[in-house]
Amino acid sequence: MVWHVGFRVAFGVAVLALVTGCGGTTASPDPGPVTLDAPEITAVLDGIQGAPIRQHMSVLADDALEGRGLGTAGYEGALSYVEKTVTSYGLAPAGEGGGFRQRVPLRNSVVVEDGSSMRVQSAAGKRTLVYGKDYLLGADPLRADVRIDDAAVVFVGYGVSAPALGYDDYGTGADVKGKVVAYLSGAPAMLPSNERAYYSSGAVKEAEAVRRGAIGTISFTSPDDPRFRWDVSVATGKQGGYAWVDAQGNPNRGDPALRGSASLNHSGVEALFAGAPKPAAEVFAAAAKSAPQAFALATRVSLVTRSTHTDVESANLVARLEGSDPALKDEHVVYVAHVDHFGRGVAMNGDDIYNGAHDNASGVAIVLEVARAYSTLTARPRRSVLFLFVTAEERGLLGSDYFARHPTVPREGIVADLTLDMPFLFHPLLDIVPYGAQHSTLVTPVTRAAARLGIEIATDPIPEQVLFIRSDHFSFVRQGVPSLFIKSGFKTGDPSKDGAAINAGYRRDVYHKPNDDMSQPFDFEAGAAHAKLNFLTGWQVAQEPVRPAWNPGDFFGQLFGGAPSRETGPAH
Ligand SMILES: [Zn+2]
Repeated sequence: MVWHVGFRVAFGVAVLALVTGCGGTTASPDPGPVTLDAPEITAVLDGIQGAPIRQHMSVLADDALEGRGLGTAGYEGALSYVEKTVTSYGLAPAGEGGGFRQRVPLRNSVVVEDGSSMRVQSAAGKRTLVYGKDYLLGADPLRADVRIDDAAVVFVGYGVSAPALGYDDYGTGADVKGKVVAYLSGAPAMLPSNERAYYSSGAVKEAEAVRRGAIGTISFTSPDDPRFRWDVSVATGKQGGYAWVDAQGNPNRGDPALRGSASLNHSGVEALFAGAPKPAAEVFAAAAKSAPQAFALATRVSLVTRSTHTDVESANLVARLEGSDPALKDEHVVYVAHVDHFGRGVAMNGDDIYNGAHDNASGVAIVLEVARAYSTLTARPRRSVLFLFVTAEERGLLGSDYFARHPTVPREGIVADLTLDMPFLFHPLLDIVPYGAQHSTLVTPVTRAAARLGIEIATDPIPEQVLFIRSDHFSFVRQGVPSLFIKSGFKTGDPSKDGAAINAGYRRDVYHKPNDDMSQPFDFEAGAAHAKLNFLTGWQVAQEPVRPAWNPGDFFGQLFGGAPSRETGPAH
């Protein structure tokens, strides 16, 4: 799962016109309501087990694959294992050129610390900040050297402009033209969970700032934000940023108008707020109350960003189970899990292999088990089913974004996405949070599947984690495809196990660190329960004559599902 909300993605225009009904094709006669208790379905569900999930995870998270870093033999080894496994299930290749792979060309941009700098000028004098201690820079994907000289800084709250939802930091008419904007990471708690997640995206904030004429961004985090882990930011920051590259060699990230972007540690915030009309503590308090804010700071900043660029080859893997209905088999339900993790990096406690057992060997293992379940059906579903294993999720959902924009199956036929990423396997699966269900008709199949399995549905207990934008389903949402991202809820069934505390502890101590390995107390039967739930949900979508649709007037449906996107940025 991707965590750094400052990722830079240039959004194009959503071009997929979402059609309700049968997409203009004539389906075979409706076989009647889809039932979930047919003997064959019960047999398939009974066949889904924890043991194969443990087996796949053990292979994928082994030190031998060295954390599945981009462009490494370990990543290739993981993809080969996935390919061998789906081949053994009899699934067909659906990548490029009749094979399983889809090539994804990437560009890695890394900040050269020596030669990069950040200076803050205040009435008290000039202060040079220390890289890695006070601040980090985002590498520029377009330019080796780019700078901002002595620019004015405007603090713009969360940097969120959502007037239709009753919140706008820019609403008081803040003038940011030719200036640097500074904002808090995250988005106001008054927004609904998934809309809050959307507006917390660094890409959305940057696009808004650039649209208003800003030339740079500075983001920082409230001291009580649970996502703030500076050591992890520094460690993963050393690996730089990635973009996918189109056929003309253009990266999908970077904006010529934006000449620098920094993120600050608390010491950097202190420097930036020197002499400010309001102290930082006051703006944190106002932000916590969802009060829009914007005012000019008393400091001016200079940023020099020096970057190196390296081309890296990576690949997605696409496997397909062909549908049985001649009219519907060109439509696809897509299951997605990301294979990549951080490879070898900065050592912590003497360990430099970021195994990514939970993130996301677990999701890959579950999708493999779902694929095996489909392959055992004697009656194939009416629509086709794709099993998509993607690269570079940790670098900003790049492999899934590449596929969603360059699909190897007909684009208009992608009817739904179900993503598995770090579903949370530390206790039995008693309740779920189906991110995305409230936005589309997918609420029906997931609700029916959960009821069939005796699993409850919970509301998002951690909206501040902005999970709706943090995995590969969001790449499909951006192309107008109704999607689900199902996570475990906090019920454990054991009074001595506090689900909320287990979740928070994992995020604090393990997530994106080398100790996300197989020594953790995984509940593989919870993994099997996720596989059953996702199988049953997607199977209904593959069977139902009517394809999923966004709810009328839905925020994401309007933004991406047919109507032109309001997001700006260079179109690639
Ligand atoms: Zn991750």
